[in-house]
Amino acid sequence: MRGPDLASELLALHPAPPLEGLADAHGRSIRYMRLSLTDRCNFRCVYCMPPEGLTPLPHAEVLSYEELLRFCRLSAALGISRYKITGGEPLCRKGALDFIHALKTLPGVRQVSLTTNAALLRGALPRLAALGLDGINISLDTLNPKRYRAITASSALPDEAVAALQEARGLGLTVKINAVPVAGYNDGDLVPLARFALEQGCFVRFIELMPVGQARAFAGLSQAQIRRDMEEAFGPLTPLAESIGNGPAEHFTVAGYSGGIGFISALSKKFCRSCNRVRLTAAGFLKVCLHHETGRDMKALLRGNLSDEELARAIRGAIWEKPLAHSFEEASAPGGPRAFFMSSVGG
Ligand code: SAM
Ligand code: SF4
Repeated sequence: MRGPDLASELLALHPAPPLEGLADAHGRSIRYMRLSLTDRCNFRCVYCMPPEGLTPLPHAEVLSYEELLRFCRLSAALGISRYKITGGEPLCRKGALDFIHALKTLPGVRQVSLTTNAALLRGALPRLAALGLDGINISLDTLNPKRYRAITASSALPDEAVAALQEARGLGLTVKINAVPVAGYNDGDLVPLARFALEQGCFVRFIELMPVGQARAFAGLSQAQIRRDMEEAFGPLTPLAESIGNGPAEHFTVAGYSGGIGFISALSKKFCRSCNRVRLTAAGFLKVCLHHETGRDMKALLRGNLSDEELARAIRGAIWEKPLAHSFEEASAPGGPRAFFMSSVGG
């Protein structure tokens, strides 16, 4: 029996791409998926969510773990071997650790990592280490308690993230710090944050603020200026020859430290030409470019009694249509691609 009409219509709308490999029409090979487990979060970071929060998706509108695992089994069989678990705050979703464990054991899945604000991380660490999690990105924008609370709009303290980071490293987990520089919030805190990361033997990566959703009301800091500040404080930054992580970050080492400094600059160093990633939102939409609406409603398809072959064709088709580049430079239109909130897509 066929599922709801929507599923058939979605399939009929999109012709199948060529059969070989998981690539898009621009020749990019897609190997990396960011999976948002939930749109809910225990923080309200000023550039990510409105202070009053967002109306969360009803539970029935979020993909179940069974649906997520079926989707991942198919996408892994197609060639997506690396997965980043994100949110909202992924650790806010009950059962997240069981899901991560199940994902780790799927054939074709080579790497599963997590991005988290770390507020709930410490309790999860023994299990994450035991199941062989491949890495944790801790979002930490400042070590200053007052400004941390202002940025996260929470009562949390940076010390909690620091303790989680140290415990994670003690358990042998690979940890990176991700920080979003925001004018008027953490301008003066980036050198101390980098010093902390370097002293811990970690990488800190500065993520350029992307003008989506809530962030349109804020200004990021110039990555060139941050680099100058880093070199003034620590000496020359030496580009790292090998790539670390899954993405477009430029990483640098600093003499005397085992850690380093990175930059992820989607605007000033547009890296779309080498983009290897797609995203599955908490609502089950396969979003093939952060800043375009192109993709597939996988929830409708997964709930439409389709065969594995039909679902795989839908995934390949969506990826084939991945736009060449984001369009952050274009003026924002009401209801346009910037109308989403990062918390529902996962960064
Ligand atoms: N809650 C988790 C966390 O904070 O790591 C996962 C979800 S969060 C949306 C993922 C990452 O996106 C975080 O590092 C956050 O700082 C970053 N982020 C959120 N809004 C952003 C924006 N407008 N521009 C750049 N990065 C952003
Ligand atoms: Fe939550 Fe992460 Fe967004 Fe902060 S950046 S509000 S922690 S989803």
